[in-house]
Amino acid sequence: MTEIQQLLADREIILPEVITGHVGGTAVAIDPQANRHAVYFPGTGERIAFLQEDNITAVTNAVHCARNSFDNGDWSSAPTSSRQAVFRRAATLIREHAEELALMECLCAGLPASHLASRQIPRAADNLDFFADYIGVMAGETFEQLAGYQTSVTRQPAGVAALFAPWNAPLALASMQIASCLAFGNTCVLKPSEFTPVSVLKMVNLLEQAGLPPGTINVVNGSGTVTGAALASSPDINRIAFTGGSSTARHVMAAAANQLTPVHFELGGKSANIIFDDADFDRAVDGSLVNIFSNSGQICIAGSRILVQRSIAARFVAAFVERTQALKVGDPLDPATEVGPMAFKTHWQRVLDHIAKAKLEGATLLCGGEPLTKLGDGYFVAPTVFQVNSNRLSLCQEEVFGPVVSIQIFDEDEEAFSLANDSRFGLVGYCWTNSLARSQAFRQKVDAGTLWVNTPLARDLRAPFGGFKESGIGRDGPRQAAEFFTEEKATITAIDKVPIRKMGETTNTDAGK
Ligand code: NDP
Repeated sequence: MTEIQQLLADREIILPEVITGHVGGTAVAIDPQANRHAVYFPGTGERIAFLQEDNITAVTNAVHCARNSFDNGDWSSAPTSSRQAVFRRAATLIREHAEELALMECLCAGLPASHLASRQIPRAADNLDFFADYIGVMAGETFEQLAGYQTSVTRQPAGVAALFAPWNAPLALASMQIASCLAFGNTCVLKPSEFTPVSVLKMVNLLEQAGLPPGTINVVNGSGTVTGAALASSPDINRIAFTGGSSTARHVMAAAANQLTPVHFELGGKSANIIFDDADFDRAVDGSLVNIFSNSGQICIAGSRILVQRSIAARFVAAFVERTQALKVGDPLDPATEVGPMAFKTHWQRVLDHIAKAKLEGATLLCGGEPLTKLGDGYFVAPTVFQVNSNRLSLCQEEVFGPVVSIQIFDEDEEAFSLANDSRFGLVGYCWTNSLARSQAFRQKVDAGTLWVNTPLARDLRAPFGGFKESGIGRDGPRQAAEFFTEEKATITAIDKVPIRKMGETTNTDAGK
């Protein structure tokens, strides 16, 4: 028995040898003819399971199931109070199973299990609770300004949604899509990343245990180019919500265009983290480490371009590099680990390629810059800091999605804002200052969907989240989700005998024109 098998056995967790999709409330049967992908533990490279790939027929079945479920109304016409109760029970179950979910997610994504159990898994429960609260206070609108008429504006669920979740924070991100979609009565087909299917399937089981009718969420598995492409081009989908990379989003959008399916995209970033000379220095160092090295840098909101003002630059660089070199990189199952491995081998290679390119393009390596092979066969990269003189380097323009950061010095505030905006992305931005005027200038001038002042990564679920430019289309958020996942309907009722034009009468009076 391997260490991982022992770990699972000790916790009575059953991981099937072949993971299949989930349709109509049950696991899809194993098909010996179907394509299979191996799923590996990124901490050691050990294979932990196989994933059965869903082809176009399997995806079509899942979409039909979601459609039947939508049409029969068990969920789509359920009273708000029933939907709230299911979400709340599911949130409780997720909290109760936090350790198990964290272990499952750690084994596929390589994220530190202790961080998952204390932060990301509870976040999945919070997402459900938040939307349960929101649908309880949401109300329609009535207008009476048009004399003789009453106009009411109501919303109805959009139908069947296709949800695409990435591998970098599988449960935290898939739960946001699921909660935003199901809260309003839709059904869905969810495609998790082929690298991280396990915890998402467990969450779906917990939702059904909490009372979600079978067929409301259906899960299809497999690679993006087979299963994902089949789902995106399905003719029977009413909405597509996609979290992933900008280049994949272009394929999804092209597929959606055939059916004119509305899309919601949460995509990548290359966000600036501006440290002004009047910042609280220690907090700026702490926060800058958190916003680049959390999840080993595999976060869309990474502050991957540090811009530091010249008068404090030398001191900042020295402190930042010293702390980077002291980060505890290693086994994600070890509670002491701060930075785990890359989530899968080809991504590990991709991050190393970005590092090699940065060196070739003349970035100055301050620390890291290599694979950590001394940690075994896991996909580890040493936390890496480069100093750069130009924002035009690939390192400053392309999303690395790993523990790699550039530091560039600026003189004037305007220069920092212009460097921050010199990007095809616009997801988030950070700034550290004690000046109200500077923080206001930052808010006005930096083009990004979320801006953080003197804090790393705090998220308020009431606020919209999404990106400018190539970082996305649309926003997460309660009102925004209601707008995307429902169809709005205006009903105009004559409440007086408002005159109607008498067409066809020989003595047409023109009344009611
Ligand atoms: P990808 O774009 O590679 O994949 C996202 C999802 O789409 C996966 O389920 C993937 O499947 C699937 N997919 C891939 N190709 C296709 C296709 N042709 N048609 C349909 N579906 C497809 O993104 P990553 O998983 O690599 O995630 C990292 C990216 O996500 C980064 O750019 C990151 O910035 C962004 N991101 C954005 C967030 C935000 O909120 N703005 C949050 C988190 C991440 P498979 O993996 O099986 O190939």
